[in-house]
Amino acid sequence: DAKQQGRNTWHWYKGDEQRATEEAVRLRHDLHYALQHEQFELYYQPIVDAVSGRTRGLEALVRWHHPERGMISPGVFIPLAEQTGQIIPLGRWVLMRACQDAAVMQAANMRMVPVAVNISSLQFRREGFIEDVLQVLDETKLPSEFLELEVTESVLLDGAEKAIALINQLKDIGIRVALDDFGTGFSSLSYLRDLPIHKIKLDRAFIQDIVSDRNNAAIVQGVITMAHHMGLVVVAEGIEAPEQQQDLVRRCCDLLQGFLFARPMPRDAILSLPDVLPSE
Ligand code: C2E
Ligand code: MG
Ligand code: MG
Ligand code: MG
Repeated sequence: DAKQQGRNTWHWYKGDEQRATEEAVRLRHDLHYALQHEQFELYYQPIVDAVSGRTRGLEALVRWHHPERGMISPGVFIPLAEQTGQIIPLGRWVLMRACQDAAVMQAANMRMVPVAVNISSLQFRREGFIEDVLQVLDETKLPSEFLELEVTESVLLDGAEKAIALINQLKDIGIRVALDDFGTGFSSLSYLRDLPIHKIKLDRAFIQDIVSDRNNAAIVQGVITMAHHMGLVVVAEGIEAPEQQQDLVRRCCDLLQGFLFARPMPRDAILSLPDVLPSE
């Protein structure tokens, strides 16, 4: 009967919830171990010129090779690492590894393109972040023009002034900052006026059905036009179909990123991309 069913449903719900909590507790614990045992790897995904398809940049995306569970998505473990504070050592590891890899690419005489590193807001706003960046550049001897940082609107959470000051400091060092997942946050447009960023990355949510949804297409067109008037570069994320590329080329989007061009791949696969190999 209904009462019985209701109770069963409740039991199932509780079971799932409990499992999810236990899983998170375990992963948070494993994360600590993983940091000390080098279970992380950086993959790189090309960011290409919208018209020519030529590689113009690489985005570093962290991967966790869990000994029992296989590959775990950053969409799962980055939020956990943010809860525990482990995002700080993990973020530092990512930054160091990305700059080391970029230095290797430079030594391999590749056509150099900037490497973009995702920075959690916690890491970004933490005391000493700029010093960490400077130290990594110094240790790896990577010229600052080859490092880009991707931050999200959440860097604005405790006031725009601090974020503006930090981005200006990075700019002075020669590091460009991109605003990631643009359009998915809750901030007003007015902050765009004051943030000294270089680039906007339009979230995949707007790109997915750009060809069929007129409202999404209108938003994308509006953002591109606005960004260009502000002197910003626009990247569209999550391009999977040629029709999406055609649409975005028509709308004058500058750069594209997505499975249509390349999936994220290990460093050594990047090193053998014909597009970035040294021209003899
Ligand atoms: P993001 O920075 O917006 O990165 C883009 C995500 O979209 C990546 O997922 C990428 O694999 C995926 N993607 C690229 N092209 C396509 C496409 O054509 N179709 C679809 N469906 N997906 C595409 P990934 O690697 O799973 O990373 C997810 C998120 O985790 C990232 O989103 C970023 O917010 C975070 N993340 C990844 N690596 C790091 C890191 O080193 N540090 C920090 N703080 N966050 C990271
Ligand atoms: Mg990103
Ligand atoms: Mg993004
Ligand atoms: Mg995204």
